[in-house]
Order: sequence, then C-alpha cells, then structure tokens
Amino acid sequence: MPNNTYQDALNRLEKIGKLADINEEVVSTLMYPKSTLTASLCVRMDNGSREYFTAYRCRYNDILGPTKGGVRFHPDVNQQEVEALALWMTIKCAVVDLPFGGGKGGVTVNPKKLSPMEVERLSRSFIRAMADFIGPNVDIPAPDVYTNERIMGWMMDEFEAIKRMKTPDVITGKPLSLGGSVGRGDATGRGAYLCIKELEKKNGWNPEDKTVAVQGFGNGGYNVVKLLQKDGYKIVAISDSKGAIYSDKGFDVDSIYHAKQESDKVKAVYCEHSVCEQVEHDRLSNEELICLPVDILIPAAMDGVINSDNIDDIQAKHIVEIANGPVVSDVDDKLKEKGITVVPDVLSNAGGVTVSYFEWVQNRNGISWSEEEVHERLKKRMVEAFNQVWEIAEENDFSLRESAYTLALRRIENAIEAHGTQKYFSR
Ligand code: NAD
Repeated sequence: MPNNTYQDALNRLEKIGKLADINEEVVSTLMYPKSTLTASLCVRMDNGSREYFTAYRCRYNDILGPTKGGVRFHPDVNQQEVEALALWMTIKCAVVDLPFGGGKGGVTVNPKKLSPMEVERLSRSFIRAMADFIGPNVDIPAPDVYTNERIMGWMMDEFEAIKRMKTPDVITGKPLSLGGSVGRGDATGRGAYLCIKELEKKNGWNPEDKTVAVQGFGNGGYNVVKLLQKDGYKIVAISDSKGAIYSDKGFDVDSIYHAKQESDKVKAVYCEHSVCEQVEHDRLSNEELICLPVDILIPAAMDGVINSDNIDDIQAKHIVEIANGPVVSDVDDKLKEKGITVVPDVLSNAGGVTVSYFEWVQNRNGISWSEEEVHERLKKRMVEAFNQVWEIAEENDFSLRESAYTLALRRIENAIEAHGTQKYFSR
C-alpha cells in the first residue's frame, strides 16, 4: 500500500462529507486518528539472536463503540497504512450498523521468513506491547493479511495470561475450540455474494448470462466465486499473485482451488492438473484481468489496482470490492461517468467484521449459534445495509460509495452531535 493511501482516504472522506452535507466538525473529527500506539517488539529468534520489529495499533474513532479491526503481518506495514485501514473500518462498522468504532494493527515483518515458533513469539510480543491499549470494551483485534486463527489463539492466550482472567471477547477470528464462531471462515466472501444477489434482484439478472472475473483467490476471492458459481454465474477469470487464467466457457472453481492448494499457484492448472484438460484457457497478467469486459469484476487482493493509469481501459459493468481500497479516489468520478456500478469495500467486504461482531456477542454471553443462525443474521445485516445504501443513492443520484459513506457519516454524526457540536454550544 503506497504511503499516500491515508491521504487518499482523507480526500475521499472530505469530498463525500461536503457532498452529503455532514457537519464540518464531524468530518474534521474523522480527519485525525484518536490514538495510535507504536512499539518495538523484541523477539528471540530460533538461532538465539534477538531481532526488533515495529508494531502499530490504531484506535481511529470510538464514538460508536470499542474499536475493531485486524492485525496485519507484512513487510509494507507502516503507520499511514494502519491509519488508513482503521479509518475505513470506522466507516465500515457504521455502514452495517455495528456497535463498533474502527481500529487496525500491524507489524512490519515478512512472516514467510520466520519459523512457526518465531511467529508465535512475535504474536505474543505484540500482545505484551499492546495489552493496555486493547480489551473487550476498548479495542478488539482480529486476523488480517498473513495472520490467521492460530495466531489469534496465541494472542488471546497471551492477553489472558497478562490479565489473569478468561477474556475470549478480546479477539475475534479465533479457532472454534477457543471460542471462535462458525461461519467466520467464509463470511467476507458470503457478504460480497449477498451484495451481488441484491444487485441481481435490482437489475433482474439471469445469473447464467453473467460473467465474473476475480483478482485474488484467497479467503475472500475464493468464497465469493464459489457461492456465485453454485447459482449459475460463469467465472471466466481467476488470478493470484503469480498470474491469471481465462476461459470464456467458465472455470470449475473448486477444481482450481484444489489444484492451487496442491501446487500453490493458480497457473499450475494449465499443465499439472486435470482442469486444464477439461476447459480451454488463456494466460493473462493481473493487469489484463482487471480490464476484461466482464459483467462483474471482483478485486480481492490489493489496494490501488484501479487507478488513473488503467481507468480508460476498465470495461467491467459492475465492480464489487473485496480488497480494501482497490479503487483510488481520483477515479471515483470517472467510474460514475462511465456508468460502472461500484459496490464499495466498506459495504461489500463488511461480512467479515459482521461475523466477528457475532463472535464477540456469543463470547460475551457464553453462547454459541449454529451455522444456519449465523448465516441468517449475516444475511439480514448485509441485505438491510445494501438496501439502505441503494435508497440513498437513488434519492440523491449518488454512487453507491458516496451513499455508503453518507449512511455511515450520518450515523457517526448523530452520535457526535449527541454530545454537542458548535451549533449547540454557540446557541
Ligand atoms: P488471502 O491472503 O486469503 O488471499 C489473497 C489472494 O490475493 C491470494 O490468492 C494471493 O495470491 C492474491 N494476491 C496477492 N498479491 C497479488 C497480486 N499482486 N495480484 C493478484 N493477486 C494477488 O487474503 P484475503 O483474506 O482474501 O484478503 C484479500 C483482500 O481482502 C485484502 O485486501 C484484505 O484486506 C481484504 N479483506 C479481507 C477480509 C477477510 O475477512 N478475509 C475482510 C475484509 C477485507
């Protein structure tokens, strides 16, 4: 993520704040993170040496509740990235009406270069540094890029050891056996799928006539196309970090998933696995995939992939964002002019944080819901949020992104105004 992503996020916030006539005091409150803690983590490596890693945790805004957001382990992590992601979490939680503010954390590290025991020591060290900054009523971490449920288990365990009490609600995305929730695994992809099903209803689509390209075939990307394919959508292009494959006949998503699991790259299906014998296919680059003339394009990997360099070549009719920030704010207006519908990240990838919220609720109440119940509750939240966003867009001739921000900013505005703004104090 480039360093100007935070500035890009602020530009978009300011622009939509004006458009939606949000109280200036409210927008300016959101222009600054409430607090960010930086720490140097000292980790004993397997060879006996000590190494230092920089860690961040940002509680961006907590007017609607304790802050919520993932912890990323990645070499590019920096304070601005963490703050941009925490701002987006603030908007996202408000869009789906969760009683949470926005937070985010990260460690600047390449976890692929660490042994599993070094990753465990790093994770525990992160919690020792952050223990007074997080908590079930303050700030609740979760997994993000290159962190997973096992790491969340270590983190919860370390927090409980420090606090000397059981607090499963301090972290979400935990293993089921340690208080995780069923339905968390595919929640992000399922949330995006539910948004596409609403688009389908609004447009009266026949799924069998619709083509889909997905960039990124991980947790979010795989789960959304798996569900879409079951309903008849044709998945014509799939990619991972190593490249993309295309077939106008459509791919069998699960065969590719299993081939990738075995070989660790999507391209392996060309020659090493049976799926390449079943379908004709072409190789593409990730840049080419983004510009395919498909009905639905799902960026589910990186930020900034739709930008001023390729905006003129974008041919998809609908873009459903699973990655955070795949469209840079400079091209928002151009997409609108081109008549491309964008379901924004703050709505379409909110399924993950919604089921994280369910996990927190279950932990706090000592209960566990069935998968069916989790799916039903997720559907209700996503469908309601989608339709609220849709209505604001129709009423005001807004894009869905402008409308989602408007919905979120109005909720945050109401909460901030309840404490009194300049209007109240200068009466
Ligand atoms: P993941 O690690 O499971 O999968 C990422 C996929 O992207 C992998 O297939 C990887 O090979 C591919 N990829 C990496 N670099 C790429 C590149 N340069 N070009 C094309 N593909 C590339 O991650 P995920 O959990 O699916 O998350 C993907 C995105 O969605 C991230 O931006 C993340 O922040 C966002 N997101 C995820 C969740 C969630 O719950 N998983 C929730 C909200 C947002």
